[in-house]
Amino acid sequence: MPARSGQQYIESLKRRKPCVYLGGRRVVDVTEEPILQEPMRAIAELYDMQLDPAYREVMTFCSPSSGDPVSTSFLVPRSRAELIQKRQHCKLRADHNFGFLGRGPDFMNCFVTGWSLAKQHFARGKPEYGENAVRYHEFARENDLFLTHMLINPQIDRSRTSAQQEDPFLHLGKVGETSEGIVVRGAKMLGTMAPLTEEVAVIPYGGVAPGDDAYAVTFSIPIDTPGMKFICRETVSPLPRSRFDHPLSSRFEEMDCIAIFEDVVVPWERVLVDGSPGSGAIINPIFAAVGSTTELQIAARMLSQMEFFCGLATKLADCIGITGFLHVQEKLGEMLSYLEIARAVFYGTEATAQPGPDGVWLSGGLGGRAFHLHTPQIYARFVEIVQSLAGGGFFYAPSEADLLSPEIRPYVDKFVRGRPGISAEERVSLFKLAWDVTGESFAQRMQQYVRFYSGDPIRNMAGFYLQYDKEPLSEIVERALGRREGTSLPISSERPGARPRYRPPPGAMAGAYPAGTQPQSTVSGARPAGGVTDGSTGNSN
Ligand SMILES: Cc1cc2nc3c(=O)[nH]c(=O)nc-3n(C[C@H](O)[C@H](O)[C@H](O)COP(=O)(O)OP(=O)(O)OC[C@H]3O[C@@H](n4cnc5c(N)ncnc54)[C@H](O)[C@@H]3O)c2cc1C
Repeated sequence: MPARSGQQYIESLKRRKPCVYLGGRRVVDVTEEPILQEPMRAIAELYDMQLDPAYREVMTFCSPSSGDPVSTSFLVPRSRAELIQKRQHCKLRADHNFGFLGRGPDFMNCFVTGWSLAKQHFARGKPEYGENAVRYHEFARENDLFLTHMLINPQIDRSRTSAQQEDPFLHLGKVGETSEGIVVRGAKMLGTMAPLTEEVAVIPYGGVAPGDDAYAVTFSIPIDTPGMKFICRETVSPLPRSRFDHPLSSRFEEMDCIAIFEDVVVPWERVLVDGSPGSGAIINPIFAAVGSTTELQIAARMLSQMEFFCGLATKLADCIGITGFLHVQEKLGEMLSYLEIARAVFYGTEATAQPGPDGVWLSGGLGGRAFHLHTPQIYARFVEIVQSLAGGGFFYAPSEADLLSPEIRPYVDKFVRGRPGISAEERVSLFKLAWDVTGESFAQRMQQYVRFYSGDPIRNMAGFYLQYDKEPLSEIVERALGRREGTSLPISSERPGARPRYRPPPGAMAGAYPAGTQPQSTVSGARPAGGVTDGSTGNSN
């Protein structure tokens, strides 16, 4: 199937009957659910963009299997030009929603593209699992699917491994196998947008602890597979929601939910890691090895959001006449300088990109990853600056209804306006937008999203240190100590984008997180009754 339209996406959702609970009731048809209407429309717009002549060249490429135009988010770049096309595609999709849809279809499309590139890792379990990874990428691409993903086990008790939880099936694990596939039971903590997606992908993130091999399962299945249930959180965009009063939260609510798997059968052709002994050791290095396939999408989303915040802060300051004050200029300058650093990294990782040994072009170096690790602080700072520039201005912004009232409007026009030349409507709309993205519960969720969406920022940063090739830095110090006399100075690299080797110190890493932060098997915990564990106590990496 060629790249889909928004209407085709909605029709596909209508045919599916996932078990979704929202606000204490079962949602019979997600396409008719009022709370999901606007986000569904936003996703449909992203699909429509693929067919729009203005964007088609960037947003699609020729499928290697069908010859049809398919989404560029599935492209495996084999030249710099293709990498540029992928970057343009990710940025276009992020610009559509100012970076407020973190989990539009392109994120998971890039993710499963990474699965196909990691085929040799999955093949370590069984050769057919490697083939499954490649076939699934093709399947998602040719059907232009929208996926959610479920990586994290519910928190419950983080001091224990999955097998040590009070009930062995609190965390999602393998119960057993049948001729049809593996059977899984338990829960995964958060799937953003799950009710509006068509498939759910599962892979543990952050490291599988020793003794938890039965929980090291990786697969993707249709969202309405029997036995799966999704319970949504309370909406951050309650209805009715005026577009004027809530310009972005009325459109881009990304619903999150917990997923419960009640003896769900995962067909063999969808299994990439099966939870048998040794499965943890297969999963643990995967993110570090191929995580960069989502880097472009992540960077594009953040860049769009930073551009939006800089524009907002600048206009907001201007509309109340504060841009002449030194500290305001300093704050706006701070935001703009962060923006330019982000742009330098975004385009720099592309400029220094090189083909890997398999001929695949990925972003160059570790700059993208390094910048990403700082984005929670940068985002929080942007929110803080917008709030400190706005002062109490948020709280005397009348509603759309007040502006429509002939009795109230004259007062609003007179007293709620901005500096000369800025009408009340202009000032109010800017302050509404600013509160929507810094103060509303929609804004709070977004800030928490930026902090946590790709894992625990603290353990991720520590993992960056552990993976980093520190040898060349150590050499500099050796030279400073006079221990390299007679050796010539290294000339700066002609290949600055070459990815430093992934080199975890032996036994020191588990996935992206330092192994030392994994709960240890000191307590003899319960094990999934039918599941298989290797019972090892050493680091599985
Ligand atoms: C808005 C939002 C949307 C999300 N969407 C998705 C999604 O679509 N799919 C998905 O899979 N996930 C999603 N996530 C979940 C995200 O992957 C996790 O929040 C993230 O991986 C961190 O895990 P956690 O929330 O369980 O926090 P925890 O790991 O429970 O951490 C909580 C706190 O405890 C500390 N801590 C816990 N364990 C340790 C340890 N062993 N060592 C040291 N410190 C520890 C942490 O540092 C942190 O301070 C989303 C999260 C948010 C906020």
